Amino acid sequence: MISENPVTFGGIVKTNVEIPFHKPYITEDEIAEVLDSLRSGWLTMGPKTVLFEEQFRDYLGAPHAVSMNSCTAALHLALLAAGIKEGDEVILPAMTFTATAEVVTYLRAIPVLADVDVDTCNIDAAAIEEKMTEKTRAIIPVHFAGQPCDMDEICDLAAGRNLTVIEDAAHAIPARYKNRMVGTIGDLTCFSFYATKSLTTGEGGMVTTADDAWAERMRTLRLHGISRDAWKRYTSEGTWYYEVMEAGYKYNMTDIQAALGLAQLRKVDWMWQRRQQIAGIYTEKFKAIPEVQTPVVKADRESGWHLYVVRLVPDALTIDRNRFIDELKEAGTMASVHFIPLYRHPYYQNTFQYSPRGFKSSEKIYEQILSLPIYPGMADEDAEQVIESVDYVVRKFRR
Ligand SMILES: *Cc1c(COP(=O)(O)O)cnc(C)c1O
Repeated sequence: MISENPVTFGGIVKTNVEIPFHKPYITEDEIAEVLDSLRSGWLTMGPKTVLFEEQFRDYLGAPHAVSMNSCTAALHLALLAAGIKEGDEVILPAMTFTATAEVVTYLRAIPVLADVDVDTCNIDAAAIEEKMTEKTRAIIPVHFAGQPCDMDEICDLAAGRNLTVIEDAAHAIPARYKNRMVGTIGDLTCFSFYATKSLTTGEGGMVTTADDAWAERMRTLRLHGISRDAWKRYTSEGTWYYEVMEAGYKYNMTDIQAALGLAQLRKVDWMWQRRQQIAGIYTEKFKAIPEVQTPVVKADRESGWHLYVVRLVPDALTIDRNRFIDELKEAGTMASVHFIPLYRHPYYQNTFQYSPRGFKSSEKIYEQILSLPIYPGMADEDAEQVIESVDYVVRKFRR
């Protein structure tokens, strides 16, 4: 068993045994909201989904928020709304989860990988420019670990070529770039509510956009391509009659998911503050461990701190990153790696002939990075315990 409290009910509870990599912050509030859905008899997309969309939209200050059953679905429909077609090229970072690129292949378009900034692991604007061709139609910046990308530079590049900017904000709820909320910057922004993400509905996603027509199209596409408010056909307000406008998808959120989302949204700022505090403890204490490099956040933006990614200083230890993670586990701290660069996976190598060549920064970073536990239910003592296990492993294998 990972801990005595796999689910924390309404508080920060110190874990004595092992520090898991992640625990969702689920309280009686989430449970009551889900029970309310179950008791109401309305299980799938309905009033709570609509309310969650409205509250999410208002929280960010975005004109439209369209819910989905995942961020992957959100990215897919964002690309469709933007009109991406077979043979088009879409530029995205090499350092991301496969979902960012796989959706491009759904449309038989080509995911073009760009190298990342060596300090932030975010897509590098200069690398984007290098990868632009006549066929480029969109850019998908990923806000790595929750830190917003260089959006002014990226949006300028896009505007000059009439490209669509679709942000992968799976890590960035909430996050701010030059005092603007992520979700109000690019043309379309996609969020994830997967179980390990900073706001969870178990599985779920959302697209925000200022474009009325795109929002409308995504609302139609997520529910079989049926004309707007298709879900109302089973209510007293609705009618049995509907029209299928195009071949759509089954990508809608359910009211059970939205119930979780509504409760999570009420504490989204508190959860963020708590992650900021944990990050603050880590960054302060790791100053005494020069073998471990702490994350760099640029001055004009605020990270969502979905992940706390440290880097092992090259040649400072006698063991590599993989062994470091194994040793940390022995010491009671579960760590992970975000991400294995896409060009290292067989699919992307075999299909697009990608290789580590040309991705100098991603290659360098990949060998050094590990993600430490950071979530709101952690007690300060849990963070201290993580630091102690890192310190223990560093001392043991210091050169
Ligand atoms: C989690 C994640 C996704 C996919 O989110 P789902 O909601 O699981 O579909 C996409 N991009 C990044 C960077 C992610 O971390």
